[in-house]
Order: sequence, then structure tokens, then C-alpha cells
Amino acid sequence: MSVKEVKVCIIGAGISGLKTAHTLLNDPRSKFTKDDVLIVEGQDYIGGRVLTDKTSSKLGYSYDLGGAWFHDALTNVVLKESIEDKSFDLNKDGYFDDLEHVYYHNDHKGELPYNKWRLNKVGEELFKFIEIYYYESLDRKDMNLLEITDIYIERYGDRLTPEQIKYLHQVARYSELWFGVASDKISAKYSAMSHEGRNLYNLKGFSFLVDKLLKGIFRENILLNHKVSKINRADKYIETQHGTIKFDYLVVTVPLSILKLPQDHEYGITWEPKLPASMTEAIDKMSFGALGKVIFEFDNIWWDNEIERFVLLSEDLDNKDIGEPLKSLPKKSKYPILAINYAAMHKNEKASLVLLTQSPLTDYVEAHPEEAWEYFKPMLEQIVTKDKKISEPINVMTTKWTQNPYARGSYSAVLPNDDPESIIVQLSGELEGVALSHSPIRFAGEHTISEGDGCIHGAYMSGQREAEWIINNFFFSKKLAKL
Ligand SMILES: Cc1cc2nc3c(=O)[nH]c(=O)nc-3n(C[C@H](O)[C@H](O)[C@H](O)COP(=O)(O)OP(=O)(O)OC[C@H]3O[C@@H](n4cnc5c(N)ncnc54)[C@H](O)[C@@H]3O)c2cc1C
Repeated sequence: MSVKEVKVCIIGAGISGLKTAHTLLNDPRSKFTKDDVLIVEGQDYIGGRVLTDKTSSKLGYSYDLGGAWFHDALTNVVLKESIEDKSFDLNKDGYFDDLEHVYYHNDHKGELPYNKWRLNKVGEELFKFIEIYYYESLDRKDMNLLEITDIYIERYGDRLTPEQIKYLHQVARYSELWFGVASDKISAKYSAMSHEGRNLYNLKGFSFLVDKLLKGIFRENILLNHKVSKINRADKYIETQHGTIKFDYLVVTVPLSILKLPQDHEYGITWEPKLPASMTEAIDKMSFGALGKVIFEFDNIWWDNEIERFVLLSEDLDNKDIGEPLKSLPKKSKYPILAINYAAMHKNEKASLVLLTQSPLTDYVEAHPEEAWEYFKPMLEQIVTKDKKISEPINVMTTKWTQNPYARGSYSAVLPNDDPESIIVQLSGELEGVALSHSPIRFAGEHTISEGDGCIHGAYMSGQREAEWIINNFFFSKKLAKL
């Protein structure tokens, strides 16, 4: 068993960990050198939830199995910096896939007259209602998205048409494909999303960001296949299966799903001494979703290639038990699905559909990828154009995030009665008076930041935040309060 010593140890080689190391080693104000910084990663690859698969496609596509869009395009720093340093060519590598979605519901044997029925406008109004409902009184009881939709219909049903009332829950359920959880698990209070700009699809794959960050980090700065099982806060060391690493500063970037595990779990982390109760309570009051992707490749395009996104609404109009774990394939169209037409985005004829799924469907399909086509085929039959027939896929791929013990899902999500603010306050230590504000134990990752939470750019900025804190603390202030 080895014993190493470094000034800054970073747990996790995802975007937040890489950005932390990159800033420590490249910020002009920092004097940290190669031997001072070490990233300790449990898995055998670098990038974490950014993972571009360049080899499995039979059509020559690269698929981002994790993050794929630049969200919040107006304020997204990763996008801004990447355009400026020319690592990302907006015209060649980016695609704003924001044409009107086309909606399907099996009642109609084809496209649903979504806009004609003003379902788009009623959907917008529902979310505005939710915002106002909680704005009027922040203390109002949280509930799930289906329940608040009931309240909206109860109050404003006299303004709605029978079609709008019939389909409104299904329209609201589209949010499942943002949050990665079924609507009966989505917090109504936090369901109204505000985006800072459009969404830009990254056609070339987010591995470019990993590669870019790696240019400023030495390969020797990263230890792969080192699972951290213990963090001793008092004596400042961590334990992995290969030995002990002592540190002056530690940046913990493991996903929220790992922080939530019991300490005696095989993939849990034992804290010595235990984390303060304010932190563990905050961690408990935030949840983790499971957005998944299922990719089907075909030898021909049998859908309308002018359409970028097909939304296949759920046919299950009673929406019962949708968040419960699945023991077998659910009945057809129990969950809404978003099918993204890769050929349209890449402006070519190479037939590929990427389907987004939510928990618990993601969990089931990722555990049983061989059943994916059987399940999705009847749903996809809705989008076949009149002159064509659906064909069997030549390639089927599914993500594995729920099966991956180092991810255990996709990204943080807010369930009813969760408190998304306190985890950020507790883990980012940005505010005075919180448990770790002066501690050498830092946290970064998509779950520790409010701007860009859940996203690649949020993870990136959180890494930068912690590196800057350490630089300031180490080079500009020697005062470290004891925990
Ligand atoms: C399916 C999916 C779709 C997404 N879509 C988008 C999108 O379109 N746009 C967007 O901006 N974001 C998207 N995201 C989210 C984005 O990918 C993540 O927010 C971001 O990559 C998280 O980075 P991170 O550094 O916080 O965590 P991670 O990338 O998870 O890094 C943490 C690292 O810690 C390691 N680790 C865990 N436990 C241990 C341990 N005990 N010891 C050592 N190492 C450990 C993990 O292996 C991992 O490498 C998506 C994510 C998924 C899964």
C-alpha cells in the first residue's frame, strides 16, 4: 500500500474535477506545480458523465451518452470560451435543434393537432400558473407535477377546451425528459424552468472539452481505477484500495448519488469524523434522476426527415404509479418519449433516432437493453410516413448510467419537498456561517451550483470556483479555520 502526499487532491475526473485541476495548474495567480495536484478517479476513463462514444455507431456517428447540449446558450461559459479559443466552431459543430416539436398520441393515428388545439399555449400557461402559485406564498405545500396540473384545471377549467383538459397532464409530462424522473416524482414548486437562452446541440461530441482540459493537466496528475472509500477530515487523508493520499486541500466532485449512499455501502464514502448534520440533511433533501438514451440505427429513413424532434406522448391517461420501479416492461406508451432525429440535425440521410427516457423506464431499459426495440417499436410506428414501412434496427445502443456504480443515474433532480437551495449553500460554502465555508475540504460538481445546476457548464464553473478558492486561500491567506 502506497502513501502519497499532495497539496491538492481532487476526487473525480469528470468536468468539475478536470476544471479544478486545470485552473490550479494554469491560472496565472497560481503557483501550484505538477507535483502539487492529483486527481483520483474510481473508473477506468476520464470524463465521468461526459462520455462520447465514437466507435459503436454503424453509421459513423459520435454519440454523447451523457451531456450533449449546451444549455443556456446566452450565458454558457463553456460555449463562450470554446468559441473564443476556436475549439468549437459554432457553424460546423453546433445545431440549434429548436424547430417546433411534433407531437403524437395514438388516439390520432398520426400527428396530434398540438398547436391547433393550443396545447402549446396552455402548457406555457400551466407553468406560469405554477410560478405564480408558489410566488404568491413560498410556504405553500409542495406537491407533484400531476397534482398541481389538477389544481390548474380545477381553477381554470372553464377556459379550457375538452381536448386541452384531456391532454394537459400529458403535455406537462414532457418535463420528465428534462428532469429524468416521472411526473409523480417531480416537485411542482421547482418544476417551472427558466432557461438563459436556447439549447445548442453539440454535433462533434463533448469529448472535445475533456481533451481541451487535459491539455492543461499532466497525465501523471490523474490516477484511474482508484476508488476512494474513506475521507479523514481531521488528519487530512483519503483511502483508496491502493493506499493513502495525504492532502492540504481536498475537492470532492463525486456525484450526489454517491454522497447519498450509506457509508457502509460498497461505493459509499466513510467520513471521519462524520460530516456535520447540516450537510447530511442538505444532501438528503436533494434527489437524483435517471435520464437515459436509447439509440436505434436503421438502413433507411422511414420518418419525415424534416422533423427534428418527435414527442410521443403517453397514452396512459390515468398516469397511475408512473414513478414506481418496473419489474417488467410497462405497457406501451406509459411514458412520454422524445425521439431526436440525428439525420435532420446532421443534415444527412444516415438513419438514427436517439430516444430520451426517464426513471423508472431508464432503469429498466438500461438493465434489459435486449428488450428496447420490442418496447419502443409500437411507439415509433406512429411516426412512419405514409409511403414507408418501419424497418428493424441495424444497431441498438442504450446508456448504462443507472447500472454504473459511479453514477447511479444521470444528474440531480428535485422531488416534492426537496430543498435544492440548502445543498448548494452547504456544499459550495459560499456563504459565511455554513459548515464548510473555511474548510480545506471543498465540494464541486453539478449538484453544488445554482447557475447551470445539473449541467456541464455548471460542473465546469463549480470546479473553477473551488480552484480559485484554494488559490486565494493558499497564496493569499494563510488563515485556515479548523473544522
Ligand atoms: C444521460 C445524460 C444526459 C445529460 N445531458 C446533458 C446535456 O445535454 N447538457 C448538459 O449540460 N448536461 C447534461 N448532462 C449532465 C452533465 O453530463 C453532468 O452534469 C456533468 O457532466 C457532471 O460533471 P461532474 O464533474 O459534476 O460529475 P461527474 O462527471 O460524474 O464526475 C464525477 C467523477 O467522480 C468519480 N467517482 C465517483 N465515485 C468515486 C469514488 N468513490 N472514488 C473516485 N472517483 C469517484 C466518477 O467516476 C466520475 O468520473 C447529462 C447527463 C446524463 C447522464
